[in-house]
Amino acid sequence: MSQKPVKIKEKKAAERVGNFEEVVCGYSEEEALQESGRCLQCKDPACISGCPVGIDIKKFIFQISAKDYRGAYLTMREKNNFPSLCGRVCPAEYQCRKACVLTRKGSPFASEQAINIHFLERFIGDYGIVNKVGVRANKDADLSKYKVAVVGSGPAGLCCAGELARCGIKVDIFEGLHKSGGVLRYGIPPFRMPRDILDFEINYLQELGAKIFPNLIIGKIKSLQELFAGGYAAIFLGLGAGTPSFMGIKGENLCNVYSANEFLTRVNLMSAYKFPQAHTPVNIGKSVCVIGGGNTAMDSARVALRLQKINAIPLNTTILYRRTEVEMPARRPEIEHAREEGLQFKFLVKPEEFCADENGFVKKLRCLQCKLGEPDSSGRRRPIPIEGSDFEVNCDQAIIAIGLKANQILTRVTPELKTDKWGDLVVNPQTMETSVRGVFAGGDIVGGEGTVIEAMGMAKKASLAIIDYLKKK
Ligand code: FAD
Ligand code: SF4
Repeated sequence: MSQKPVKIKEKKAAERVGNFEEVVCGYSEEEALQESGRCLQCKDPACISGCPVGIDIKKFIFQISAKDYRGAYLTMREKNNFPSLCGRVCPAEYQCRKACVLTRKGSPFASEQAINIHFLERFIGDYGIVNKVGVRANKDADLSKYKVAVVGSGPAGLCCAGELARCGIKVDIFEGLHKSGGVLRYGIPPFRMPRDILDFEINYLQELGAKIFPNLIIGKIKSLQELFAGGYAAIFLGLGAGTPSFMGIKGENLCNVYSANEFLTRVNLMSAYKFPQAHTPVNIGKSVCVIGGGNTAMDSARVALRLQKINAIPLNTTILYRRTEVEMPARRPEIEHAREEGLQFKFLVKPEEFCADENGFVKKLRCLQCKLGEPDSSGRRRPIPIEGSDFEVNCDQAIIAIGLKANQILTRVTPELKTDKWGDLVVNPQTMETSVRGVFAGGDIVGGEGTVIEAMGMAKKASLAIIDYLKKK
């Protein structure tokens, strides 16, 4: 067996930047067998402690190496409802792969030598989809008399709904947008998250009996009290963090200055890249500046590059980030992919002012150069602007991707739901129950912007607590 990590096949940068097709191709069976064969099957597997939901990684890798793919899928599903989705987006380089014994000690991210756990997860997740392995319903007659409302159809809502529906509970999912999936649909672009995979998981949920009601904002169209009065025995809130943050600098309201949310929603959810066949347009700049260093910034920049390429505009998209590449929170593979695709980076830069042309459209961005100081509360070194270091960059489109805050439509009109100073829901960490009896929550609305797997972990915990709550009723 080869001891070298099995590299994943990817589409060539020059080809992929001209379309929205998936970049990473996935392992073949032979490659998955070869990679699983590298696992040391450690007595004390550190990788499991690196997984936010504690998947038995050692076991599912062993099952792959024994060609027991069905067994591997079921092992994964014990802790993770959507392995196909997580295998594509989980920041494994900061989690299980970083904890893998094959990562060099003290390394800030996983070493190349670490087992490619996420690619194996994706292989098995896709096997489960193609072979319709599914996880059988385990209906409980006592529970089937209950109806539960799930608000929000992001990974948290979908995961909770799936767990409850499997037990025979009637589940209605209320989603404010016209399509379900949350960030997986409106935020993460199709070249990272193919929509047929997402649709498969959502269809499967519906086959289990969950019903989805789109275009229905809870807090505007129905209140929590009305849901209870309508016969729902419990409610799960997976509202997410979809409110964009801004820098509060001059010119942020100029034309062609977008929040990443608006930009990505127009393109990913409303298919603006197919305009005029799709109805929603989006501006395509000649000099696009994306401000931020996380996954949202990276997705925005890679979408902007594709729009430039599709519209025969010379590629000119730049990330402006106030720290250095080491501190960037974005996934490492996404940074590498973006660079290969032609993205430019300006580090240690703090935007100061957007400057307009005579019609009120953004034309330039004035910035200050920064240097790194001592670490701040996030543990990362603080950027310190250098006085007198002003400089300007051309910018006829800006996309601000500096963070997201709680969706507060529901919490603002429901004062009995206790929130913290960021507007996130306060829950009992053991049960995920909010301050309102029978109302549970999970995902980004609890504790702020996180990851897909963390959202699902919380939702799974909440679903168990909901089942317990119903059983005691
Ligand atoms: P969401 O996915 O935000 O879903 C919440 C849903 O609730 C939305 O559909 C919203 O419309 C709906 N909703 C809100 N309020 C109401 C209401 N009152 N009534 C009805 N419906 C309502 N994580 C990773 O692990 N890996 C990545 O690579 C990654 N990339 C990302 C890229 C981008 C651009 C973004 C924005 C995030 C990314 N994340 C990534 C983070 C991850 O997507 C989130 O942590 C995850 O989606 C949170 O799930 P959720 O279900 O809590 O919320
Ligand atoms: Fe395999 Fe790495 Fe986990 Fe050890 S730590 S069991 S080598 S994946």
